[in-house]
Amino acid sequence: MAEEKMNIKKQAEEIDRQNKKFNKYREELKAKCTHTRNGELTLVRGKNSNNGELVYICKQCKKELHFNQMSEAELQEACNKIDSAIDVIKVNANPNNENDVEMLKKMAKTQYRLGEIVAYYKAATSRNNKHRGNGNNHHDNNGGGVWGKPSIQ
Ligand SMILES: [Zn+2]
Repeated sequence: MAEEKMNIKKQAEEIDRQNKKFNKYREELKAKCTHTRNGELTLVRGKNSNNGELVYICKQCKKELHFNQMSEAELQEACNKIDSAIDVIKVNANPNNENDVEMLKKMAKTQYRLGEIVAYYKAATSRNNKHRGNGNNHHDNNGGGVWGKPSIQ
């Protein structure tokens, strides 16, 4: 009996370990996914199960996307917050711990790239508005518009 219980505990721990691995893999796929295929968006309209808010779901990676309109200043503020959070992580990390050293390398890359987000975002939104603005007004009146994105069926 005790042996069987132990076995179940071990199996449950193994399931947790596998789940963690799969979740990490899924998050990696979401990050890699461009939410497009052969130049076409792979998004379908959906509703957030919590608040009913309009969202878009990628058919490929299953990510829920929110294209909420954001000013450059708001985006910059968000980037500044992440920048500060990374500094907090850095000063609290243990430089003698192997895992922390690896984590710090990843954080350094993320922090370094933060500065590019505002520029790329600005370029992306103006490009989409220019190139795909063929009479399509992307500022939907339903409050859930896909800002800077072409219309989605
Ligand atoms: Zn996707």
